Amino acid sequence: MTTAKNYRIEDISKVSRQQLIDGRDVEALTGARFTRVSPAHGVEVSEFPDADAADVDAAVAAARRAFESGWRTLDGAARAKLLHRVGDLIRRDAESLALAESLESGKPISQARGEVAGTAELWEYAATLARHNIGDAHNHLGPDVMAVSIHEPVGVVGMITPWNFPILIISQKLPFALAAGNTAVVKPSESTSSTTVLLAQLIREAGFPDGVVNVITGAGRVGAALVAHPGVDMLSFTGSTRVGRGLAASAGGDLKKVELELGGKNPQIVCAKADFAAAVDAAVFGGYFNVGQCCNSGSRLIVHRSISDEFAHAVVERTRHVPVGDPLLATTQVGAIVNETQLATIERFVGEGVSAGATLLSGGTRFAGATPLFFEPTVFTNVTGDMSIAREEIFGPVLSVIPFEELSEAIRIANGTQYGLSAGIWSDDINEALTVARDVRAGTIWVNRWMDGYPELAFGGFGASGIGRELGRQALAEFSEMKTIQLQVGRRASRWVEAPDADRPETS
Ligand code: ADP
Repeated sequence: MTTAKNYRIEDISKVSRQQLIDGRDVEALTGARFTRVSPAHGVEVSEFPDADAADVDAAVAAARRAFESGWRTLDGAARAKLLHRVGDLIRRDAESLALAESLESGKPISQARGEVAGTAELWEYAATLARHNIGDAHNHLGPDVMAVSIHEPVGVVGMITPWNFPILIISQKLPFALAAGNTAVVKPSESTSSTTVLLAQLIREAGFPDGVVNVITGAGRVGAALVAHPGVDMLSFTGSTRVGRGLAASAGGDLKKVELELGGKNPQIVCAKADFAAAVDAAVFGGYFNVGQCCNSGSRLIVHRSISDEFAHAVVERTRHVPVGDPLLATTQVGAIVNETQLATIERFVGEGVSAGATLLSGGTRFAGATPLFFEPTVFTNVTGDMSIAREEIFGPVLSVIPFEELSEAIRIANGTQYGLSAGIWSDDINEALTVARDVRAGTIWVNRWMDGYPELAFGGFGASGIGRELGRQALAEFSEMKTIQLQVGRRASRWVEAPDADRPETS
């Protein structure tokens, strides 16, 4: 067995990156740049061009040219080869991608390694779909007609991604949009832009034509310019519900197609008769994975009252042994919070929980002595469904235990937020499990498991968790327009009934 490598921040040099537009590495047209500091170490680790609307113009124009000059009509087998090659190149560069991801996000390197491995699989899966971009055929509409419905690419897709799983999230969109024949302009989060830039370079190395994938770097302002650009046909966004709402409103005015993956406040319902140890394990993993900065975080633990105290204490006991610290160490499980703003948000929610009367069982503060952006894994009990810690997405390592008596009450609490991304049920009773699976409104339901995702399974949310679905075999349809083509069988009979001459009105 090989031992996973540790890194030391002292050995890391700051890297300077560029945008990729029309196959070339370029600065922002203004020459402006911005810097990223590793949140776990307070050290500058990377620097990027700070784009503005003129850079967006250049990237969209390149994407349009690439779309019209052959990419749109390329055969699926050729697309599949290119997509597969990207998967291979991601595997080749997996370690350097994981390191870049960990440095900029503050996530543990072990989790960054897992993220990169999952990313390669997404490109490989999209490659298989590229050869099966099939529509529908109709042969029973009438004796003189057949019809086919085919998918056509939408055109230029603007993609905007967040900082929590940058290379994974762009790869839930990009390879599928490319498989469907679209071109793209990608704007990663300003906090974690490196792996998206590196991915674009791998896409170029794989042999994709210039302009098919373009990456611009900068803050929300340049994202807004991309959203508003008249040359963008579709927007695919992952991020906060707040920004997603604004984006959808703007896209709605322009009648652009949108696909949104937004926040979640995901319940895990734990019944009295369940695999207690597995549920505790899932609670800890679901709450602290990626430092809780995860749209699928299982932050609401809705636990049967008969076991809720015991459950909460078991979670606290496990929490005590979670290795928190330098994300560059292979053993670390909880790293740093991405930035001060996010940390302040977590602190505000924890304060609101305490003021509302919830019991703080563990954590609740910054880590004393560490660099400033670490927060202790936190557990609340005696939480009620109306508290902000039970309703709002915190995006930090904060778990709330909410007791219930009847399953119907648990389902009501589970459905009691604006979100509907994912939910879980822990129960040995098949009827309890099936009732939750049917009645909880969420895009994914886990029964006696939590958090696993597969490229084959659709992902997305109800309500304020988003619009549309990524992944799965329907992912190509999400990035397509459907065109119906009717075919006449035999000679077309006239549909006009000619009036006899005598009945025709006089015309002058
Ligand atoms: P997160 O904080 O989880 O990254 P945000 O919703 O704040 O979530 O940001 C997600 C992405 O949206 C980032 O790339 C960010 O730069 C971008 N963004 C922020 N504001 C806007 C906006 N008004 N229009 C378009 N993109 C934006």
